[in-house]
Formats: sequence, structure tokens, C-alpha cells
Amino acid sequence: MSQYYKPNRNPGWNYGGPRWRLSRSKIDLFMNCPRCFYVDNKLGTARPPGFPFNINSAVDALFKKEFDFHRKAQTKHPIMEEYGVDAVPFQHPRIDIWRENFKGVDTFHEPTGFTISGAVDDLWVNSKEEVHVVDYKATSKDGTIDSLDQDWHVGYKRQMEIYQWLLRRNDLTVSNVGYFVYANASRDREMFDNKLDFEVTLISYTGDDSWVEPTLLNIKTCLDDPRVPKASDECEYCQYREAAGKALVKNKEERLHEKVAGVSESKVGQKNDTLF
Ligand code: SF4
Repeated sequence: MSQYYKPNRNPGWNYGGPRWRLSRSKIDLFMNCPRCFYVDNKLGTARPPGFPFNINSAVDALFKKEFDFHRKAQTKHPIMEEYGVDAVPFQHPRIDIWRENFKGVDTFHEPTGFTISGAVDDLWVNSKEEVHVVDYKATSKDGTIDSLDQDWHVGYKRQMEIYQWLLRRNDLTVSNVGYFVYANASRDREMFDNKLDFEVTLISYTGDDSWVEPTLLNIKTCLDDPRVPKASDECEYCQYREAAGKALVKNKEERLHEKVAGVSESKVGQKNDTLF
């Protein structure tokens, strides 16, 4: 069992507790399934975490070093030159906090009383003093990655839009245009030879954060309701969870029944022993 996964977390971290905050990933969980979101935030049982992707983390760390070099020099990174982006990495006294997991960019949202937060990968600033949100991605796929056209990319787009919304509430002038710096490891080499070759592409995305405010109000309504939201019919995990739960209860009842029957039979046996 993972040393990090605690199915029953300290209630101080649940909704209503002093340490609860609404992270960008929790908003995404709500959009995917209000029931799982509720079980996590209100009842205190989160889904088990996925395995950490260490290669992705290494790519992120190296991108960060590269862009920090250009941040310090206030020069364009080669990918900005290649794609004709009129920007340099953004210098700001809070940039390291905004990029740090478990800190990030935060804001207090008065209508809900929520503190909302999310850690960005990077920010660039253009010649009009507008800030662009930047996200680093790493993967390994055939072909060149030059668009976000898959259904599951909706999560990436929402992520970008939440960051734009958070930064606007931190008094920055934020462009609707954000960038994904995509590193794609090639599988076309003859041999591994202790190396991965990456093709790095830049994908721009024009965000629209107008959904964030109404979603926060929906989240508040969900969390303040004592009823657990319905499960999605399409989610195989919930069907599994329900079926497994019923199977376990049935098994327990059968064993209990056998035990009770066994006790009665031995009592009958004892009585019979005394009779004969
Ligand atoms: S349907 Fe069930 S398991 Fe699936 S995401 Fe929702 S609550 Fe979680």
C-alpha cells in the first residue's frame, strides 16, 4: 500500500475544516464527477493517487531551468523565436510561489467563501505587458503534436482557464492566449542508447474563463447539500464499486449465517448427546 495514500484523511482538510482549499485539480474533479468530488471533499475519502510520472517531472524541471535562464537575461527562449511569439519569461517577485505545488496562485472568493489555488508551470509577458499562462507537457506519441483536438484535452484547456482566472484576481493583465510547450519523445530511433530525442512544439490556446464563476457557485451548492450526488451511469469504477460492495456484504451475511447455523447445530448435537 502506498505510504502516501490515506483513505480517511484528517477532517481538518475536508470542506468546512480550517485547511480545506479548492485546488484547480479539485475543480476538474467536480467537472468530471460531482459524486467523486463530494466523497473526497465532504466525506474525506479521496481517490487513490496515480503513480508519479518521473520522466514528465524531469522534463518539467529542465524546461524550468531553460526558461529561468532566459527570465534572468530577459531574452527569448528559442521556441519563442521559432514560433514568432512576442514575449519573454515573466519576472515577478512571487513567480516561485506561483509555481510551487501546494502553494501556487491563490485567491479568496467572497460569494462562496472558498480559497482557490493552482500552481502554474510558467508565465510569459508580451510587449503590451500582458501575461500569458504557459503549461509544459511531456509525452511520447507517433507524429508531431500541434493541436489539442482530443476529447480528453478539455482538462488541459480548463486548467489553462482556471490559471487565467486566478491570475486576473491577483491583479495581473492576463491575455486570453496561453501556450502549451509540448515535448514529444520519439520512438523512431534504432536503439535506446541511453537517450531520448524530443520534438518540442508550441501550441497556443485562446481561453475563456467565463465558466469558472458559475461553476464555483455550483460547487458550493453541491458541498452544502447533505445528499451525495448521483454517480454517472457510464463510470465503470462506480459500477465496480457497487458490485464489489454488494458481493462483500453477501459474503459476510453468508458466513454469519453459516456461523449461526453451526452454533445451533452444535447445540442440537449437545442436547442429543445428553438424550442418548
Ligand atoms: S461515477 Fe463513481 S467512481 Fe466514477 S467518478 Fe463518479 S463517484 Fe467516482
